[in-house]
Amino acid sequence: MKNRDLAILFIIYIGMMANLILWYFNAVSEMFFYIFTALALAALFVLTLTIILSRTTDDTLANLKYNYMSSTKSVLVELDINNFRMLTLVYGVEKMNEVVSQLKQSILYIFPDATLYTKYTDHFIFCTHVTDKKDIKNAFTEIQRKIKENEVDNIFSIGLSCGVYYPNYKEDFEQALDNVYLAFKNSKQSIKNSISFYEPNKLEGLIEENKNIKETINHILNKNFQIYYQPKYDTKTKNIIGSEALIRLVAETGEVISPSVFIPIAEKNGLVTYIDRYVIKQVCIFINKLKKENIKFGTISVNLSRASLTDDDLIDFLEKLFARYGIEKNDIELEITEGAEGQGNNFVQDFIEVFGNKYRIAIDDFGTGYSSLEFLKASAVKTIKIDKSFIDDKSASGRKILTNLIELAKELKYETICEGVEKQEDYDFLKKINCDYIQGFYFSKPLQENEYIELLKK
Ligand code: C2E
Ligand code: MG
Ligand code: MG
Repeated sequence: MKNRDLAILFIIYIGMMANLILWYFNAVSEMFFYIFTALALAALFVLTLTIILSRTTDDTLANLKYNYMSSTKSVLVELDINNFRMLTLVYGVEKMNEVVSQLKQSILYIFPDATLYTKYTDHFIFCTHVTDKKDIKNAFTEIQRKIKENEVDNIFSIGLSCGVYYPNYKEDFEQALDNVYLAFKNSKQSIKNSISFYEPNKLEGLIEENKNIKETINHILNKNFQIYYQPKYDTKTKNIIGSEALIRLVAETGEVISPSVFIPIAEKNGLVTYIDRYVIKQVCIFINKLKKENIKFGTISVNLSRASLTDDDLIDFLEKLFARYGIEKNDIELEITEGAEGQGNNFVQDFIEVFGNKYRIAIDDFGTGYSSLEFLKASAVKTIKIDKSFIDDKSASGRKILTNLIELAKELKYETICEGVEKQEDYDFLKKINCDYIQGFYFSKPLQENEYIELLKK
């Protein structure tokens, strides 16, 4: 029984005793005595019901929260069975269900006071008053030993990962869940069964990563990102033929932070796909607005990270968005980069095939990876965007490579664009060798939305 329930029971008991004494000494009327007694019995009934219900709903997160918050001495434990999916293939669903229910029973047997919450099938969080580290370690070994009895051989051994968090003050429950999860995640770093206690100095890397994830999510939710547009120009006519959408993070101080600072972090923590989706959506909204206002904008290109290319839902997401905002084939172009470290490019090629037949694709930073020439065979690609390093190389051989690259790309019917063009001499050279388009500070820096609209209106 929880401290709160005990307190309520005590108050009811004192109230009833007082009522009885007052009635005995005729200090209250008979009517008052009966009404008070009825109310006290009703309160007792509600309390009993609450206690019973809280037992039958043991598996809810709300119950875990309630029990965790109502004691100052609870410890949070998170654990699961290692390689559960693989083990299900080896042992079968039925056997693994048995193992899970045995695991549950073992936890409740060893920690009789535990409030157990099932996060996923084989993944539990519970709070307990067993606080001694040695006791918890022994309990973990004992639970481990019990479920190991199910093994048919020790090749496919059944093991556990476990994280433990000792709250040193009563912070909010979500923070406590976060901390026990970090300890649990740390235990996963070891291949074999392991138990890990939350120790901030040992979990620095994970805590930092977790902080970055939260920050990125908040930036997306709070719309702290801003999209800039860098115009792209026709080399011959110097007319704007479109732009590239480039993301910026606007800090609370108003400082504008470059994507080269936060995109690599988001690539590491896996949130870059959400940033990409956010940018695509904002660009679609922008295009929709330009169309409504009859402003000609050409094609706006958007950068896609490599992680987005493996996102199974991406094409579905794009189709829905394009339909909603009336986006047509030539309104948007997706810029994808080749794998810098020569990683398998199959998924890039797959994406190009599926998407490129319906929409426009550009290969960004062309020439910086190991498989550039491979991309020239991908007929569904529309544009080759030649990396800045080519125009920066002013040597005779550098100029020859650039000239031939553009010639080859044009022969294969790709549109060509050079990025990072800063000087008049570069522009003159690119014009001479018939590069179709140019993007660079020579013409314009990336602009804020309203500045870009003003430029388009001119
Ligand atoms: P990128 O796609 O190759 O974009 C071109 C970068 O070159 C931009 O840097 C642009 O500001 C810069 N640039 C353009 N002209 C010149 C020039 O004349 N001189 C020099 N020195 N730089 C020039 P930015 O905006 O800092 O973006 C850096 C990279 O961050 C981008 O390279 C792209 O890979 C990534 N990025 C930007 N926005 C997004 C986004 O929305 N999603 C993803 N996944 N990546 C993005
Ligand atoms: Mg780009
Ligand atoms: Mg680029």
